[in-house]
Amino acid sequence: MASICVFCGSSTGRDPLHVETAAALGAAVAEGGHRLVYGGGHVGLMGVVADAALAAGGEVIGVMTEQLVAAEVAHTGLTSLEVVPTMHARKARMADLSDGVVVLPGGFGTLDETFEIVTWTQLGLVAVPTVFLDAAGYFDALFDFVAGAVDAGFVRPEHAGLARRAAGVADALALATAPVGAPLPKWT
Ligand code: AMP
Repeated sequence: MASICVFCGSSTGRDPLHVETAAALGAAVAEGGHRLVYGGGHVGLMGVVADAALAAGGEVIGVMTEQLVAAEVAHTGLTSLEVVPTMHARKARMADLSDGVVVLPGGFGTLDETFEIVTWTQLGLVAVPTVFLDAAGYFDALFDFVAGAVDAGFVRPEHAGLARRAAGVADALALATAPVGAPLPKWT
């Protein structure tokens, strides 16, 4: 069993394909015998992923701050909900619990969570495969930006692949459980 962390929006977005993909991912995590780790919310794509994994009989661990629990956005039906004091502690705990990350569409929170773990992997602090599951092309502009950052000399070519990409659920889970194999950080 692998622990698959999903970062995604606290909103559902406007395209129904995002909800469909989130539900398919949650179900596939559970049906693949994996544990789902996520931010613990019942709102947006977060709630969709968790509900689908639970409905498929999966184990779901949420990690949420006291503030968000107090704001009543916590999912009350999880296998377990860990409550931590800060957003930094939340991200660190999710990284500790996870063998791989799948990223669904989201906003600032999703991008923050994702690029922190990609950065930590780039630095060799962790080695967590991170995959953008992009069924609707939502992340096209982001990958264009990454390509531009490589061209501009701000992202090393050998690090660009730390932000993996998949168009379907099965490919995303395969990439999220495949070792990073990244070279050690080069400081010069
Ligand atoms: P975002 O991608 O901005 O929707 O944020 C996703 C992550 O940030 C999730 O881990 C959420 O717990 C957190 N988050 C940000 N804004 C909210 C909100 N209004 N309600 C609940 N969670 C939120």
